[in-house]
Amino acid sequence: MQVGIVGGGPAGISAATFLKRAGVNVIIFEKKRLGGLLNNAWRVENIPIIVPQSGKELTKKMISHLKLYKVDVLYEKVEEIYEKRIVSEKGIYDFDFVIASIGTIPNRIKKFEGNRVAYEFLDLPSDINLLAIYGAGDVAFDGAIQASILGKKVHIFNRSNNIRALSRLVKIAKSLKVNYHENEAIKYVEHFDEYIRIYTEKGNYKFDALLLAVGRKVDLSIVKSDKVPIIGDVAHPNFRQASIAIADGINIAMKILGRELSGNY
Ligand SMILES: Cc1cc2nc3c(=O)[nH]c(=O)nc-3n(C[C@H](O)[C@H](O)[C@H](O)COP(=O)(O)OP(=O)(O)OC[C@H]3O[C@@H](n4cnc5c(N)ncnc54)[C@H](O)[C@@H]3O)c2cc1C
Repeated sequence: MQVGIVGGGPAGISAATFLKRAGVNVIIFEKKRLGGLLNNAWRVENIPIIVPQSGKELTKKMISHLKLYKVDVLYEKVEEIYEKRIVSEKGIYDFDFVIASIGTIPNRIKKFEGNRVAYEFLDLPSDINLLAIYGAGDVAFDGAIQASILGKKVHIFNRSNNIRALSRLVKIAKSLKVNYHENEAIKYVEHFDEYIRIYTEKGNYKFDALLLAVGRKVDLSIVKSDKVPIIGDVAHPNFRQASIAIADGINIAMKILGRELSGNY
């Protein structure tokens, strides 16, 4: 049996390792970096059986698990997903089962985009000292903490007075002297080679980079058949948790193994 998995985040990796360990041939297709979004996490503290550690450390362990079981990974962007076929930018591949664990996509603010603007912490330029973050959820405060610990000066801009982030993260950010701008929407971003200038309703500021943390959404446009199992964040965008994604991966792997035996999911 051959299983194709699109997306090498926690969901795809857990499905892949579970299946490979059970003797199934698996290929993961990954367009960016194994470990997915979890790579960006400052500190993962909410998975009971794992001692708190950074997302990078956790994904490193997941990747070594893939290596342990010799799971094949193709670094290719997938363009179309069918029940038994994956079409990537480089070729067409047929499988007995295909799984979509493609995660979510950022809510883009196209008019702000440029070389010094990113939607993931790891995609920020490396030469920054002064970082602006737009958003007030967990990802915004997680990024602010991570950047502060790395010695950067951070300003969070929140367009309202509603902070959606966990109060624990807000407290840590405050203790690290993260500057917080309430009711201050960003209106415009001016781009220069070495810096950006951010215009808000209240003034304008020079920064080295901007992290846009204004939410994520599902995009299933590449999934061309409703028979493709969808797992991880893409299946439940309001419950974006690595542990749920991992459980989804194991769940679908067990169903595939069971279906091989019984003919049903
Ligand atoms: C800053 C931050 C902090 C977080 N902290 C925590 C935490 O403390 N605890 C916790 O449980 N969760 C945390 N999360 C959430 C966690 O990272 C996600 O729930 C988890 O990564 C979801 O796994 P996934 O495999 O479903 O999706 P993703 O991690 O999004 O992985 C999807 C993968 O699919 C790939 N992909 C997408 N489309 C294609 C395509 N067309 N072709 C090929 N590959 C494709 C992507 O490149 C990506 O690698 C955090 C997330 C962020 C951003």
